Amino acid sequence: MADVVLKDVNKRYGSLSVVRDVNLDIPDGEFVVLVGPSGCGKSTTLRMIAGLESISDGIIQIGARVVNDLPPKDRDIAMVFQNYALYQHMTVYDNLAFGLRNRKVPEADIKREVTFATEILGLDPLLSRKPSQLSGGQQQRVALGRCIVRHPQIFLFDEPLSNLDAKLRAQMRIELKRLRERVPTTSIYVTHDQVEAMTLGDRVVVMKDGSIQQVGTPLEIYNRPANRFVASFMGAPAMNFLSVDIVQEGGNVRAVAKEFSIRIPDAQQRLLDKRGHGRAILGIRPEHIHLGPARATDGMTFEGEIEVTEQLGAEMIVGARSADTLIMASRVAPDTRIALREKAPFSIDPNALHFFDVETEAAIR
Ligand code: ADP
Ligand code: MG
Repeated sequence: MADVVLKDVNKRYGSLSVVRDVNLDIPDGEFVVLVGPSGCGKSTTLRMIAGLESISDGIIQIGARVVNDLPPKDRDIAMVFQNYALYQHMTVYDNLAFGLRNRKVPEADIKREVTFATEILGLDPLLSRKPSQLSGGQQQRVALGRCIVRHPQIFLFDEPLSNLDAKLRAQMRIELKRLRERVPTTSIYVTHDQVEAMTLGDRVVVMKDGSIQQVGTPLEIYNRPANRFVASFMGAPAMNFLSVDIVQEGGNVRAVAKEFSIRIPDAQQRLLDKRGHGRAILGIRPEHIHLGPARATDGMTFEGEIEVTEQLGAEMIVGARSADTLIMASRVAPDTRIALREKAPFSIDPNALHFFDVETEAAIR
């Protein structure tokens, strides 16, 4: 294992800047997930760490070594791609053994390593098959196995589960967690899928337009998003955003939208006070909006017209229009009787409000 450090790393293609000032410190043994929308620079960042892409500016260190000019084969990394990149004419066993044979490892040692990997991944019964005789999930397991047998300092993953169907993806997520326990290795995992980011990462790095937006544990990112982009990208259904005026009313500070007016809890009031009153963006996660009137005395109720419902079995997601805004509420009891275009009361948990600056979209803290 080794730690990985990126210092002021930039990547430009001509005048196009695709990775900007990336600073990241990944301690030995950590599993870090880079997540963000397509085109935000995740793969480029990973490929620069792998040495498959040159860097325009900055420093990349693996262990104590600066690897800027080191070819990929000397970086002691193993990489898994979305397309499994297996040798189609070779059996599973030979695919797994290939890298070790190239390095002239004795066959007996190869056999031991391959057995170790196939046991972890449940590939034993498939060793004599060719990749074309395997399902997508099995092929991806072979690709993982090829990394395991090499005992690299670092695992790099680029969207390894994106070609699999939803059920298999969920299963492979669990296998990746198990793999972590059996083969602890510093890992950098790229995905556009926020569920993979939340479930796999010790820490999550959210990227947008080539820049890091926030680095934190999954819960830090979810509970304290640094800005509106992070808040909207992480979480499904996505956070609701409303444009509000912050006004003084009686002894209280309230966030007033066309849809409703809500008293801001004291702790947050002080923060908003610091920047004077005015406009802000209020963010509320769907799970903090409940169907039915407020139960607590400090809660608030608004009326919405039911516009969409999504029945998920364990919960229902309800979209209600209030003034101009479609507001999504989740965790509605699945057997709730509810009709489209009906008006219904909704309530907001006042202790779960997020506020963002109108101009910078940074969280107001
Ligand atoms: P992601 O993996 O987050 O989807 P990438 O790192 O693959 O994004 O790409 C980031 C940006 O860099 C994209 O806008 C992409 O079009 C651009 N890009 C990638 N490779 C090249 C290249 N060889 N030449 C020019 N632009 C590129
Ligand atoms: Mg990519």
